[in-house]
Amino acid sequence: MSEVEPPDSLPANLPIFDPTIAADYAENTRAVHSPRPDLRHVRALGLPTYRTAAFEFDRTEDYASVLGDRQPGYTYSRIDNPTADAFALGVASLEAHGLDHPVAAQPFASGMAAISTVLLALARAGAHVVAPNAVYGGTYGLLVHVLARFGVEASFVDLTDLDAARAAIRDDTAVVWAETIANPTTAVTDIGGLAAICHSAGVPLAVDSTFAPPPVCRPLRWGADLVMHSATKYLGGHSDVTGGVVVGDPALVARVRAARIDLGGSLAPDEAFLLHRGLATLPLRVARHCTTALTVAEALAEHPMVEQVHHPGLADHPQHALAGKQFESGPDGSRYGAIVTVTPRGGREAGFRLADALAVGMVATSLGGVHTVVSHVASTTHRQFDDAALRAAGIAPGAVRISIGLEDPDDLVADFTRALDGLPRPAA
Ligand SMILES: *Cc1c(COP(=O)(O)O)cnc(C)c1O
Repeated sequence: MSEVEPPDSLPANLPIFDPTIAADYAENTRAVHSPRPDLRHVRALGLPTYRTAAFEFDRTEDYASVLGDRQPGYTYSRIDNPTADAFALGVASLEAHGLDHPVAAQPFASGMAAISTVLLALARAGAHVVAPNAVYGGTYGLLVHVLARFGVEASFVDLTDLDAARAAIRDDTAVVWAETIANPTTAVTDIGGLAAICHSAGVPLAVDSTFAPPPVCRPLRWGADLVMHSATKYLGGHSDVTGGVVVGDPALVARVRAARIDLGGSLAPDEAFLLHRGLATLPLRVARHCTTALTVAEALAEHPMVEQVHHPGLADHPQHALAGKQFESGPDGSRYGAIVTVTPRGGREAGFRLADALAVGMVATSLGGVHTVVSHVASTTHRQFDDAALRAAGIAPGAVRISIGLEDPDDLVADFTRALDGLPRPAA
């Protein structure tokens, strides 16, 4: 059923329905097959949300060849959805800028859906995976608690040490998994150096770049084969949507898509709409997040109640020079990401007090959104670690991870300064 053309005497865009059309059908049939505007006249400026589970065909033959991937089109939203694809392509256009070859992209329901699908697509029983010793907790859990049961073995190594990375790769290594900036130490991986090692061993390099979204770093430019993001963080940017994305070598991404279709971690159209909207302001937001983060990191480093500040933009950061080379810059300076980890004097207790004393900064999980959020590392993201394990991982018991938001820098500096001023001075 469709609308009828209005007579000349009426406005061309008045929705008019002719009740003689489909008058033979009974009420439920007419209710189900309701009329729609003629899509030939529709060219949306904003991204349409294709909130549909299935797509219609005129001919069974077309349906079969779309389903068989012999012709473009959409059949079922777990398989592909245009709104979700628009989001993934939007990320591809940012990640692949400056490359001279095409890349493919895939949307996911969460960052972990992306990570699990990539690892399941690339590994098999008996395969080996190299991952950083400071890897994201969910990735660690997936490797140790899930993939291990299927005969996949993981080695966790310090990937900031390229010799250690080289030594960890074996004949049966299926993939090297890296993170651009580690949580919460902000250690920076030399993606170019690691990619060269991986490629001379014939192993693909996949990079979780959630902490360093464009326009901070584009791992594909440095030779990564796949880059993935938890889109829940900076890409969405407003802490109101969960999603993930993978971009990279088309042959690898085709395997990842096949695994996604079977595993089912597909991105829903409403979430895709929000994530796509987030992309429009990603470069502006991230540039601002970064300049504010550096301002706050520098102010924290000056405070007498601060023992240590981790941020790649600080000159004493172990990979400060690497970050300056590998990360991008703009009119407002170099971009070092917007995660700042601060250790106040006074141990674990001081970390709790600092977080709780903030008025602008909020105690919450997640990161990469408009709000500045803090979490006490030892009791949240790294709660499984005792003090000795924390020390081994370079994390002080009092460390507080800050995801710098989009508030005014002066308000944030004042907030942290006031909270630090209020901490009890440890006995000398
Ligand atoms: C949050 C996060 C993930 C997981 O993403 P979800 O969207 O929560 O599934 C993976 N890697 C990093 C670095 C993250 O910060």
